[in-house]
Amino acid sequence: RFILGIETSCDETAASIVKNGNTIVSNVVASQIESHKRFGGVVPEIASRHHVEQITIVIEEALKQANMEPSQLDAVAVTEGPGLVGALLIGVNAAKAFAFANGLPMIGVHHIAGHVYANQLIQPMEFPLLAVIVSGGHTEIVLMKEHGEFELIGETRDDAAGEAYDKVARVLNLPYPGGPHIDRLAHESDGEIVFPRAWLEDDSYDFSFSGLKSAVINYMHNAEQRGETVNPAHVAAGFQNSVVEVLTTKALRAAREYNVKQVIAAGGVAANKGLRASLEQAFADEGIPFYVPPLSLCTDNAAMIAAVGDSMFTAGVRGNLAMNGRPGMPLTSWSKGIATE
Ligand code: ATP
Ligand code: MG
Ligand code: FE
Repeated sequence: RFILGIETSCDETAASIVKNGNTIVSNVVASQIESHKRFGGVVPEIASRHHVEQITIVIEEALKQANMEPSQLDAVAVTEGPGLVGALLIGVNAAKAFAFANGLPMIGVHHIAGHVYANQLIQPMEFPLLAVIVSGGHTEIVLMKEHGEFELIGETRDDAAGEAYDKVARVLNLPYPGGPHIDRLAHESDGEIVFPRAWLEDDSYDFSFSGLKSAVINYMHNAEQRGETVNPAHVAAGFQNSVVEVLTTKALRAAREYNVKQVIAAGGVAANKGLRASLEQAFADEGIPFYVPPLSLCTDNAAMIAAVGDSMFTAGVRGNLAMNGRPGMPLTSWSKGIATE
């Protein structure tokens, strides 16, 4: 089976061909980061315009790199949601046109399922599995008992981890996206400012990062008012240590409670060196296999969308030409071969 994946939910225009859900044949990503940098974040209008300009080129490039014709494909999988509506629509409409023109079935994929299935491109998933999803818009702990079954056991009550990284980076005057810069500073730091940890209720797997973000902002503000110089590396290290400790502790507790066979990390923040090292250490000590995709598969790409598409295709799920972008799409299961909506 060969699935063409298409991803345009945010600021990456991406297309990829994946064989049997686990082998990348081609993987093309056109990033718009340079265009959004000077605004300190993703500007939806600009994102849509870039997607329109890039989408056909990126799809053609994915076919060219794979040395394949559309007739050799089995289906087109596209990110249906969640994401920016104007951005999603470009990918969905491109997928519709491509599927219609080439007589291929079309499958609508949840972007976060994609981040989880990026792992399937590295090694087979084993169930029950715990997925620690840390991205620009999501922070969730999800239990999977089989392919295509998602049980949300914890999520953020306010900011996503990546959002907190980007906002803290902004007050430290670091370029967008700030995650990698904070990561680097924290790594080089010779000290830390200790910031609070939001544990919430004893038995909760939920997260909260807005208090931590405010603590950093207040610290910077107070230092400025007193005319004190701030060591940005110490701030970055303190912020990162708080995020990493809470994520690791909760993930470990959930893995024990649900007796999982495998733990995976997913999403852009899973590219974080400090988080990877902390999770690796904790699960090595616990004797539970832990995996995280290579950096290029942690951030947005279409190979992960094709990987999900393959699993849904195999389960018998098919979309149709009435598909639209769904900015608030919920993560629902497809394991029974039924698209829930
Ligand atoms: P979502 O997947 O929730 O829709 P998104 O697609 O915008 O959101 P991703 O592409 O998965 O998010 O991840 C982008 C986020 O990852 C940004 O917030 C970025 O700062 C963060 N990030 C990337 N690399 C690192 C890193 N090394 N350390 C921390 N954060 C990082
Ligand atoms: Mg992105
Ligand atoms: Fe993403």
